[in-house]
Amino acid sequence: MLNKLVMATNNQNKLFEVRQILSPLGIDVLSQKEAGVSVNPDENGSTFEENSKIKAMAVYSEVHMPVIADDSGICVDFLGGAPGIYSARYAPKGCECEKLLADLDGVEYEKRTAHFVCVITFVDTDGNPYSLRGECSGHIGFEKCGANGFGYDPIFMYGDSSFAEISSDEKNKVSHRAKALKSLYDLLNERYCD
Ligand code: IMP
Repeated sequence: MLNKLVMATNNQNKLFEVRQILSPLGIDVLSQKEAGVSVNPDENGSTFEENSKIKAMAVYSEVHMPVIADDSGICVDFLGGAPGIYSARYAPKGCECEKLLADLDGVEYEKRTAHFVCVITFVDTDGNPYSLRGECSGHIGFEKCGANGFGYDPIFMYGDSSFAEISSDEKNKVSHRAKALKSLYDLLNERYCD
């Protein structure tokens, strides 16, 4: 039986989305703050999996109860997968789209393929980690379009629209984070609720 877990974040948007997805399973999701934890580990891994696990295990070592943590970013093929795990630090906050557009200056549409990645680590009561990955493929556009979302959404083209032009409901059906969360839901449902 699992009725409570801690998410290794205090980000209210992430908490809202996770709570919405896991509420049908009767699982309460506590923020780090609500769990009385204030760890801020060095995310020095070389993959999304490693960084997500570093965050999850740091919190687990404090609370000794089930934990989830996520790590996400965008990988651009023409840039050899960059910015990848460095997506949050690639440019000053609010300037990430301009930086990526500048780095792809002159690159034709067919070569502007990219994918978002989200990896969630779930750590069970005994401290065993499970990794769940979601990806969403698209293109980097030529200019910012739309006012929704955050980060790279205005330049990430999913079909004919950017992620910033579609509603959050639409994005949450197809996004990397939605897919990783769906796998988390399935894992928890199978292990604890069947
Ligand atoms: P973190 O997983 O909170 O460390 O965030 C990684 C960075 O990747 C964010 O700061 C964003 O710049 C970018 N990112 C991750 N997911 C998305 C998304 O759904 N839309 C736009 N940018 C994203």
